Amino acid sequence: MCLFCKIIKKEIPSEIILENENFLAFHDINPKAPVHILAIPKLHIEGFDVVSPEIMVGMTTFIQDIAKEVDIQKAGYRVITNIGDNGGQEVKHLHFHVLGGAKLKWSHLSDSNPKKFL
Ligand code: AMP
Repeated sequence: MCLFCKIIKKEIPSEIILENENFLAFHDINPKAPVHILAIPKLHIEGFDVVSPEIMVGMTTFIQDIAKEVDIQKAGYRVITNIGDNGGQEVKHLHFHVLGGAKLKWSHLSDSNPKKFL
């Protein structure tokens, strides 16, 4: 069973922000911003590349609810999902990073020359 499935089953503790029948949100253990929450489906889905539009409908509303719950909605925030090796995905269970609580930088996205493929 994957790490996030164990968190869903409460076999591994987490600081839960929001939960419903299909989704769970909890604090990232290694925050990259003052607010860093992970939003995951309870169904094991490897990543964004294989998620259905139906799941994403629910996920969209769920992420919007997280932003309201932790009061970052008005100031703004960022949603990221890493996909596969190049995307830097470490946990192979779909998750969205919800980052906020400060003005976020737009840097360190790649170590390579961004003009290489232009
Ligand atoms: P990614 O690199 O996109 O796969 O993101 C995985 C995220 O899971 C990282 O930001 C980790 O800090 C986070 N993480 C790993 N283990 C835990 C855990 N037990 N509880 C909360 N977050 C975790």
